Amino acid sequence: MDSGGHSLPSASGTDAAKRRVCYFYEPEVGNYYYGQGHPMKPHRIRMTHALLLNYGLLQKMHVFRPNPARERDLCRFHADDYVSFLRNVTPETQQEQIRALKRFNVCEDCPVFDGLFSFCQTYAGASVGAAVKLNHGNHDIAINWSGGLHHAKKCEASGFCYVNDIVLAILELLKKHERVLYVDIDIHHGDGVEEAFYTTDRVMTVSFHKFGDYFPGTGDIRDIGFGKGKYYAVNVPLDDGIDDESYQSLFKPIVAKVMEVFRPGAVVLQCGADSLSGDRLGCFNLSVKGHGECVRYMRSFNVPLLLLGGGGYTIRNVARCWCYETGVALGVELKDKVPEHEYYGYFGPDYNLHVTPSNMENKNSRKLLDDIRANVLETLSKLQHAPSVQFQERPPDMEFEEEEDEEEDDDDEDDNDEDYAYERDDLDVEMNHPRHSDAIKRKSPSDNNRNGRMNMEVDGIDAKVQADHFREPHILREGTQRFSGAHIKAESSAFQAPTSSKDFFAAPTPINGQSDSKHEFVGPKKLSNENFPMYSKS
Ligand SMILES: [Zn+2]
Repeated sequence: MDSGGHSLPSASGTDAAKRRVCYFYEPEVGNYYYGQGHPMKPHRIRMTHALLLNYGLLQKMHVFRPNPARERDLCRFHADDYVSFLRNVTPETQQEQIRALKRFNVCEDCPVFDGLFSFCQTYAGASVGAAVKLNHGNHDIAINWSGGLHHAKKCEASGFCYVNDIVLAILELLKKHERVLYVDIDIHHGDGVEEAFYTTDRVMTVSFHKFGDYFPGTGDIRDIGFGKGKYYAVNVPLDDGIDDESYQSLFKPIVAKVMEVFRPGAVVLQCGADSLSGDRLGCFNLSVKGHGECVRYMRSFNVPLLLLGGGGYTIRNVARCWCYETGVALGVELKDKVPEHEYYGYFGPDYNLHVTPSNMENKNSRKLLDDIRANVLETLSKLQHAPSVQFQERPPDMEFEEEEDEEEDDDDEDDNDEDYAYERDDLDVEMNHPRHSDAIKRKSPSDNNRNGRMNMEVDGIDAKVQADHFREPHILREGTQRFSGAHIKAESSAFQAPTSSKDFFAAPTPINGQSDSKHEFVGPKKLSNENFPMYSKS
C-alpha cells in the first residue's frame, strides 16, 4: 500500500528518517479486571508489551513507568464530585451508593472493580506524562497503549471509560501548542473528546467511526462544532465491513486537508483496535496493516505525535496491532512470525503477526464513500477560505522545536542525568513491583467545567505544578539511544504559566465573525446510550 505522506521517502518506499520514540508502560496494568464476561481486558496491554519485548522493540525507545495522575490532575477536566466518587467507591461499598452510581453512569458497561481509581490514575498519568515528554521536544512520538479512553465525560463514565486521559493529554499539549489535532480511528465515535472541545478552535477533533444503530449514537457528519469551534469537529460516519482500501480512500485525503488547513503543533492519534476485522464488538474489516497505515501516514507529517490505545476486544489482535504500530512509529519492519514468549499460545494456530481480513460484505459503496469525502472536504474548505482565520501568528512549531532541541543537546546533554537523577530500574524487577498507592489525597481546588465542556478560560492555571509532577517518570528501561534529555531551562519555558488567561487562550478570530461564547452549549445530537449499549451480556 502506498504510504503517501509528506516526508522524504527512502529507497524502500517507507519513511527514511528515524523518530525519537518514548513509550509509557505500567507493569501492573494487566492485573486490573473489569469482571467476568466483560469484554474490556487490560491484560491486552501486558500482551502488547510482551510482544514489544520479544520483538526487540523496547531497546529502540525510551521506556517509562508513568507517574499516577493525582486527583487534582484529573480535575482539570473532570468534576470534583465525580473524581471523589471514583476514588472512594469500592466493590464492597457500592451498594450503599446506588444514586451516585446511577448519576455517574457507573453500571454494567462501567463497573466498579478492585483498584478502579488506581487504574484511572495509571492510564491517565501515562497519557499526560507522554504529552509532557512531547512538550519537552526531545521525542517525536510518545506512546501509551493503556490510554485512549475516549468516551469518558466530565462527570460521567461511559463505554468502559472512567476518566478521559485524551482530554487531559490534549490540555497538556495546549500549554505549548497553539493548536492540537485529535484523530480517532476506534470503531466508536470519539464522543468524550469531541464534546470537551466542541466550542474551541484550538483543538480539531476528527473521528472515523461506525454510525447508525451503534454505540454511542453520536458522530453525525452534520455535527461540525459550535461557536468558535464551528468547523473544528469533523465526523466521518462509516458502515459495516469497511476494508483497508475504502478506509484509506477517506482517511488520507481528509487528514491531508486537515493538516493543510489546521496546521496543528501536535497530533493525538487514538488507535482503538476494535476497528480491526474480527473484533468481538466491532463490525469493520480492517487488517493490521490497514489500521497501521493510519499511523504511518500521521507520522509522515513530522509533527509531534501522541499514540494512544482505545477499544479492542479480540485481544490477540489488539496486541498484534499495537505491536505492529509501535514498529511503524520506530520505522522498523517486523517479521510476520510471532516470537515465542509467555503469551505465544494466544496467537495460534498460525502464530503470525498479521491476520487476513474476512470476506464480509463492505456496505460502504463507492458512491457513499465519494459523497462522504466530498462533504467533509467541502466543510473543511470553508475553514481554509475564511479570511479571518489567523494561522500565521507564530513561527511554525517544527522549526521552533528543532532549534530548541539543538540548543538542549549542545548545552545540557552531559549534565542531564545529574539534573534529574532518574531511577533506572531493571524491567524484571519492575514487573514485581507492588501496585503504587493512591495519589496524594486532598481536595482539588478545581471548579471549572461546570458546563459539561472545557471552560478554556480558567484552564492552565496550575500548569507549572502539573509539569513538575509529570516531569520525571521512572525509566523502566533505557533505549540504546543516548537520552539527550530534558533540562530544566527548556521545561520552565515550555511550561510557563500564562500571565493572563487571555494571553494563553488567545484564539484565532471566529470565522463567522461573531462570538458565541455566551451562548448556551448546543452539543451534537445525542441519542440515549440505552439505545446502543456498548455490549450486551448474552
Ligand atoms: Zn471502541
